[in-house]
Amino acid sequence: MPTDYYSVLGVDRDASETDIKRAYRGLARKYHPDVAEDKTSAESRFKEINEAYEILSDPAKRQHYDRFGSVQNGAGGGAGGFGGGFSSGEGIGDIFDMFFGGARGGGQQRAAGPERGSDLRYDLQITLEEAFAGVEREIAFTHLGQCTTCSGSGAKPGTLVSRCDRCGGSGAMRSVRQTPLGQFVTQTTCTKCGGEGTFIPTPCETCRGRGRVERPRSLTVKIPAGVDDGSRIRVSGSGEGGTRGGPPGDLYVYLSIAPHRVFRREGNDLLIDVAIGFAQAALGASFDVDSLDGATPLTIGPGTQTGSLFRIRGRGMPTVRGSSRGDLLATVHVAVPTRLTRRGRELLEEYAAIEAEHDDKTFFDRVKDAFRPE
Ligand SMILES: [Zn+2]
Ligand SMILES: [Zn+2]
Repeated sequence: MPTDYYSVLGVDRDASETDIKRAYRGLARKYHPDVAEDKTSAESRFKEINEAYEILSDPAKRQHYDRFGSVQNGAGGGAGGFGGGFSSGEGIGDIFDMFFGGARGGGQQRAAGPERGSDLRYDLQITLEEAFAGVEREIAFTHLGQCTTCSGSGAKPGTLVSRCDRCGGSGAMRSVRQTPLGQFVTQTTCTKCGGEGTFIPTPCETCRGRGRVERPRSLTVKIPAGVDDGSRIRVSGSGEGGTRGGPPGDLYVYLSIAPHRVFRREGNDLLIDVAIGFAQAALGASFDVDSLDGATPLTIGPGTQTGSLFRIRGRGMPTVRGSSRGDLLATVHVAVPTRLTRRGRELLEEYAAIEAEHDDKTFFDRVKDAFRPE
């Protein structure tokens, strides 16, 4: 769902409004379904271009998108012909003005009814410990909430939103022309209301007629135990306010888990590397291995090789739903001492001498054995 609107238009993130408009016009001219050669691919590309332009040409929406990478799927039910996504009269109006001097084909009439607010995305990083135990986190963000002065109507309190008198509330103007090819019916976006069908004679001063204002918001998100990188938590109704009495969108919290200095995670399993001494590896040993909820005992047998993997059942991550847990996978690595005590050195030299007596293979034979395929 998240699209990089800047790359859709082929502009830099710091592009000016003029740059954006220029890029949009160039692309729209190329991909307009009425002029492009490959109609099917052009239509989806055209839709994408319009969507990008709709966000990036509006300073408030652009700022919002820059901050949240906003998921703009709440504006559905908008313009018909291109599958929705236009939350104001601008996008589609502009493009038709460009090509047909304001003419607009039939079948694209849109009702100026309530529109649901956009969904918001909030990216949140938590630690592996928090993902293990579950956590509540307070998050703060800015969203477009319903204007409290006008209760979202956009009209100054005490005044009314009236039906547009030019188009009679339909948002479109119809004209019939006689041409040499026959009668030609054109529908045009109403120039007075911009297709909204309504007209606000006295706009609310707080929101300047938009019905929504940018407002800081904070809330506590409950993150269940067992969540993973990419988990998404939906906070219903905490997205942007709707327009013309439409319901608000939702807030989606996208989780990422910070890398841990000890554990790696694979699904619900936790992976850990454990260093052991070579005497432990040769003789076998019992010791404690760290897990996220305390140490857990592990016994290795004599002759354990470096790189051996031990599975400790049920000591990994919890599953989000249900009571089971993944495993703890410990890989042992034999650590060779870099400094020896005098006594340690004596013992090892003694051991080396015994080993040499009992093993008549040369060093090179042993190397060959090690590399011989089984
Ligand atoms: Zn207002
Ligand atoms: Zn009108």
